[in-house]
Amino acid sequence: MQKKQNISLSDMKQALISQEFALYYQPKVSMITGELCGAEALIRWIKPDGTIVPPMDFIPIAEQSQFIQEITKYVFQKLVIDFAIINAVNSNISVSFNTSGKDFYDNTLTDIIIDAVNSRIIDPSKIEIEVTETILVDEVQAKGCLNKLANIGIPIAMDDFGTGHSGLVELSKWPFSILKIDQKFIKGLDDSTKDREILQASIRMAHQLNMDVVAEGIEDQETYRVLQEYGCKIGQGYWISKPLPLHEFIPFLKNFNNLPAMPIGLLYMAQLDHIQWRKTLIDTALFLHSSDEKRELKNLRGLPELEHTCCKLGKWYYNTGRVFQHMQSYSQLEQPHIKLHNIGKELLVAAQNHCEMGELTNLIQNLSEKSLKVLEALQALENDLHVEQYSEIEKVS
Ligand code: C2E
Ligand code: MG
Ligand code: MG
Repeated sequence: MQKKQNISLSDMKQALISQEFALYYQPKVSMITGELCGAEALIRWIKPDGTIVPPMDFIPIAEQSQFIQEITKYVFQKLVIDFAIINAVNSNISVSFNTSGKDFYDNTLTDIIIDAVNSRIIDPSKIEIEVTETILVDEVQAKGCLNKLANIGIPIAMDDFGTGHSGLVELSKWPFSILKIDQKFIKGLDDSTKDREILQASIRMAHQLNMDVVAEGIEDQETYRVLQEYGCKIGQGYWISKPLPLHEFIPFLKNFNNLPAMPIGLLYMAQLDHIQWRKTLIDTALFLHSSDEKRELKNLRGLPELEHTCCKLGKWYYNTGRVFQHMQSYSQLEQPHIKLHNIGKELLVAAQNHCEMGELTNLIQNLSEKSLKVLEALQALENDLHVEQYSEIEKVS
């Protein structure tokens, strides 16, 4: 292992002037389609003698002073230039970069990024900002900056989720749209049941919060497969590729062969979403029916989504679920789902009007039957997916 060197602030200042900092890019893959979908820019300090200093040897020192702001500014400017080259090769790629808490103590970085977006130097949906929980220290200022950036369409990722001290409350208070689960949990997959459970619960939670999940530190195919089963959407790790300098990243992009796409985890999520919806709907109906007064639906807390295109299953069906649209079982799901929503609406109105108990139980029974049809259709889709997967494997072997 390389010995840590004593690094001073003035060494780093000199290195910045001499342009010794470089960006390496580590690819990210969509675990739904198997295609490359992004890359994380990671800083390296390349000394004139060719020695490469890893970020953990100097970023923590830079973070002790305002100098980290200079580094992040440099990273962003370099990334914008590199992005033009990357985008010309593959326009589906978005690039993320890392920031520190101090980058949001004032508006400098935020204004630079907003200027770049306003002057159309960069498309806001093509960059992502990764922040760690240290950001939560300077609450008001940092939150203002991140809200501004999120409002102009830049996705904000919470990096290293699960390692810091922030509670789950923080997650809902900040404008995060991506959750990057720390490597620690990915590495613990094989040996620790607890880590596995935490990982599954985190993926499920991110899904409930409409956040994308990125798993970092995928070092083998088995881990990639297990994460797909858990419903993780994006993967990053040495098994896909180590971070590469731009001149190696570009050929990597050009020659990339898609990885296995096995969106089985998404189907499990859809099944869970549906069961949750049905339970909430029946609970709501029983509450309305037993209530002394007639309650307005719009005033109810936690009312399940009544429109079939807007519930979680519907959003999945008409968006990510489209990866299944070549399968007959995909189209067979739509009608039972629409019917289910119609009965759901009917049930709530009847319960709201304090209908006869017999009518209420009939409607609940009817709803449950339609719900079974939806689950059967999802199951059929899952079976078709397994068959498709199996024939793919046979073709390869
Ligand atoms: P991070 O943002 O969590 O980045 C992921 C780190 O995990 C990277 O280390 C990456 O090389 C490493 N990694 C990715 N896949 C694997 C894997 O499969 N196995 C193993 N063992 N490691 C993997 P790296 O490049 O050394 O960066 C370390 C940390 O330094 C980053 O963690 C980030 O917190 C920080 N950092 C890197 N670049 C910057 C930067 O430009 N600005 C700031 N503020 N921090 C940076
Ligand atoms: Mg990161
Ligand atoms: Mg990380």
